[in-house]
Amino acid sequence: MDLGISGKRALVCASSKGLGRGCAEALAEAGCALVMNARGSEALESAAADIRAAHGVEVVTVAADIVDPDGRARVLEAAGQVDILVTNAGGPPPGIWSDWDRQDFLDALDGSMLTPIALMQALMPAMISRGWGRVVNITSRSVKSPLLNLGLSNSARAGLTGFVAGTSRQVADKGVIINNLLPGVHDTDRIGQLDRVTSEREGISMEEARRRGEARIPAGRYGRADEFGKMCAFLCSAHAGYIVGQNIVLDGGETFATI
Ligand code: NAP
Repeated sequence: MDLGISGKRALVCASSKGLGRGCAEALAEAGCALVMNARGSEALESAAADIRAAHGVEVVTVAADIVDPDGRARVLEAAGQVDILVTNAGGPPPGIWSDWDRQDFLDALDGSMLTPIALMQALMPAMISRGWGRVVNITSRSVKSPLLNLGLSNSARAGLTGFVAGTSRQVADKGVIINNLLPGVHDTDRIGQLDRVTSEREGISMEEARRRGEARIPAGRYGRADEFGKMCAFLCSAHAGYIVGQNIVLDGGETFATI
């Protein structure tokens, strides 16, 4: 299928690895020029070189912390006007309700709620004036069904979800379409870290932690960044103009719900 976005310019935040990279790859495959970002420059430059070689698109890189206001300003300056925005950053640390103080909550809100909101506020006015734009926020299935070891994610991402629910309906008639993608367990470094926490807490091997994780998923496996990226590219496509403010769960069926 031609996604109808060849030649569009996309900013994909936190995209040297994992789900962000999967989104960057799929948008490049659809013919988008990219602005890619991560804190570490080595993996970022390597990912950008791979994408240029595979898809022949322009890729601008900005090594910066997207959560830090100065880092975000540098990313926005390099990005200029973009047609597509994919927001992403590292997730909050694991823990339970009694572990956190005020600063932990503020950090989680900064990374998982206020940063994507600041990016939308910076980039959507130009999308609105051009009459076309797409925003995909990478959130988590924790907003549909709480993850008991990730209470900071449950809390902070719910705030972003509320913002998107209202805002997406205020900009859709201006051609700007905002949706959220909710990953379940995907095979990335982040999940490796969470499996390590499980293995240490329960005194089991990493392989056993993964086996138990996969056994909880009806699809019987962890998801892949490339299939996640393809869904992101579709939500950024010319064909997604009637999908407004949705929270699309990609979790192999792990979240049990009838609708
Ligand atoms: P990952 O494999 O660890 O990759 C994270 C990427 O983001 C890396 O490129 C990293 O590069 C970059 N990054 C992290 N913090 C950043 C920051 N402050 N500024 C700029 N770049 C940053 O993680 P992932 O699994 O793809 O997860 C992406 C998001 O989805 C996270 O918020 C995670 O909590 C959420 N999520 C993931 C899953 C899953 O199954 N994987 C499930 C639910 C939710 P640098 O370290 O060099 O900056």
